[in-house]
Amino acid sequence: MLEIRGLHVHYGGVHALRGLSLAVSPGEIVALLGNNGAGKTTALAAVSGLVRPSAGTIVFRGEDITGERPHRIAARGLAHVPEGRGVFGTLTVHENLQLGGHPVRDRAEVRGRIERVYGLLPRLAERRGQQAGTLSGGEQQMLAIGRALVAGPELLLLDEPSMGLAPMMVASVMELIAGVNAEGTSVLLVEQNATAALGIAHRGYVVGGGVLTLDGPAAGLREDPRVVAAYLGG
Ligand code: ATP
Repeated sequence: MLEIRGLHVHYGGVHALRGLSLAVSPGEIVALLGNNGAGKTTALAAVSGLVRPSAGTIVFRGEDITGERPHRIAARGLAHVPEGRGVFGTLTVHENLQLGGHPVRDRAEVRGRIERVYGLLPRLAERRGQQAGTLSGGEQQMLAIGRALVAGPELLLLDEPSMGLAPMMVASVMELIAGVNAEGTSVLLVEQNATAALGIAHRGYVVGGGVLTLDGPAAGLREDPRVVAAYLGG
């Protein structure tokens, strides 16, 4: 589904990614873990075309997309929910979901997808006429994910969806992600909350200083003393 090989990204003099390689297979949830500044957000930004890599390749669904424009990459079936959600606060829940369907030509298809999102997220269905800025943080996160789903992505990139949420909301958001994945969408999940991410992921990667430091099945990472010490508060 997605293969990143030897990726380097520079921001001026900052060498943020230093040869990162990772892959997501169809149907997987893959967690991307690491401390602040490790390069996780940069990796997602490079995949969705928001930053241009200085070296390396990104292959999505068998095609080299390295350096392609973001809207072209999105049209190939990739949706990115950036850190901080970015819902349109003065628009209603329903209008935010409609915006997610903007690139889709078939309006009936968009209406169907919005109804499926409401089915998955009854809390949003009840609030469809409410201004998005008045939703709770967790509801806004769900709306951001729901909006990405209306585009009908094959792969969903999620940047720290648990950020700033109370533990119960974190559990609900993880449940939503697992549900979306069960319906066939692959997921690359960036998280500081390793416990939550490894609870739903199939596999995981740990990055540090722009390179991979560990990878493996989620169950193995949950038990790995290095992960426990660094990320699971062990
Ligand atoms: P966090 O969990 O704190 O979001 P992260 O793992 O997502 O961290 P990145 O945001 O990818 O890390 O940042 C990787 C490195 O690149 C950091 O050293 C950061 O300061 C630097 N960096 C990121 N964006 C820029 C930018 N626009 N200009 C300059 N340096 C940047």
